[in-house]
Amino acid sequence: MYQTVSTFDVNKIRNEFPILQQVVNGKPLTYLDNAATSQKPRDVLEVLSRYYQEDNANVHRGIHELSRRATVAYESARERVAEWLGASDRAEIVWTRGTTEAINLVAATWGMDQLTEGDEVLLTIMEHHSNIVPWQLVAKRTGAKLRYIELDAEGKLILDDLDQLLTDRTKLVAMTHVSNALGTVNPVQRVIEAAHAKGALVLLDGAQAVPHMNVDVSALGADFYAFSSHKMCGPTGAGVLWGRKEILEEMSPYQGGGEMIGFVGRDESTWADLPHKFEAGTPNIAGAVGAAAAVDFMEKVGYDGIQEHEAGLLRYALDRMGELKDLTVYGPKTLGERSGVISFALGDAHPHDIATILDSEGVAIRAGHHCAQLVMKHLGVAATTRASFSMYNTTDDVDRLFEGLRVVQGIFGR
Ligand code: PMP
Repeated sequence: MYQTVSTFDVNKIRNEFPILQQVVNGKPLTYLDNAATSQKPRDVLEVLSRYYQEDNANVHRGIHELSRRATVAYESARERVAEWLGASDRAEIVWTRGTTEAINLVAATWGMDQLTEGDEVLLTIMEHHSNIVPWQLVAKRTGAKLRYIELDAEGKLILDDLDQLLTDRTKLVAMTHVSNALGTVNPVQRVIEAAHAKGALVLLDGAQAVPHMNVDVSALGADFYAFSSHKMCGPTGAGVLWGRKEILEEMSPYQGGGEMIGFVGRDESTWADLPHKFEAGTPNIAGAVGAAAAVDFMEKVGYDGIQEHEAGLLRYALDRMGELKDLTVYGPKTLGERSGVISFALGDAHPHDIATILDSEGVAIRAGHHCAQLVMKHLGVAATTRASFSMYNTTDDVDRLFEGLRVVQGIFGR
């Protein structure tokens, strides 16, 4: 049986999440849809509530106490994220709505400025749609080509021919750090080194990495890193694009409007300094403040404990689910190569039916293509069923999942 590490007390952590203490469909809630979004601890909820109750005002503009406080809160949140992510300068942290907007920002600015006919962007077929479609849009407008790193039968990137996939025309490699559909943890360091050797930049989609592992962008050496606060215990509608300062400096603005300008004339304007150049309009101030509170929370719990706990849950879940007849688990076989995501099929039961039956048992999981249709095509399925873990999940949650799957098998007559 899996043991928690001594400093990591899952029951104590669980008590920090009020939403988990409820009954759904007559059963205690078992929340295993964390790759879609995570739940929020009291610390984050209180910071959000306090911000709105005590400090709310618009930032950077008002000459009054509340505006000063809101500005300090917003900019301190940026500082906190910069320090946590290992950025060399707070100006490298651009607040966005989330990973999707962060990638679209790079595609619409750097992509439109830098890519020309015949240039290449190297993606992987493991990408979430948010790291494919923005590049398709840019490729259509610039004449750039998209190439893909393929997957092997286990759902790992095939990197043997990486040197051939990276050509003199490759301007960017855009890839996910951790797969939301398979749980694969990618050897990003190797790709970064190979891409840089060919003069290409690297954008990493960190949406599924930051909830589970310590990320230091300076140590990683990529050029852009994108993530969403809501998957790591923070609020929705807030995310981050980290970019290397010298690259961000050269990029055109994303959206036009207030906040992002230096001076506005009739025909032309100048831009604000980084990072404000990329933050047009009133930002999600509370979202940023909540995201920083989430960072505090993650660090308070500690990534070492989180990783060990989630690896133990994964091991336990794979063991238990292995008892089920007709179960196919997708993704890497080696535990060290995957995070706490289990994408699976159970005989020929439709994933939506499985999810519906589990829901009636109080177990929340996801069924569908997980915004990764290229992965589904690779697996030869239309959809999978996905259970995904967070720090607050327990072996009881896994047991309930297992029992729910037994109910599914009973209904489908196996
Ligand atoms: N990339 C990955 C790997 C994801 O899992 C997700 C969210 N499912 C996204 C990008 C998009 O994140 P968001 O919807 O928060 O912008």
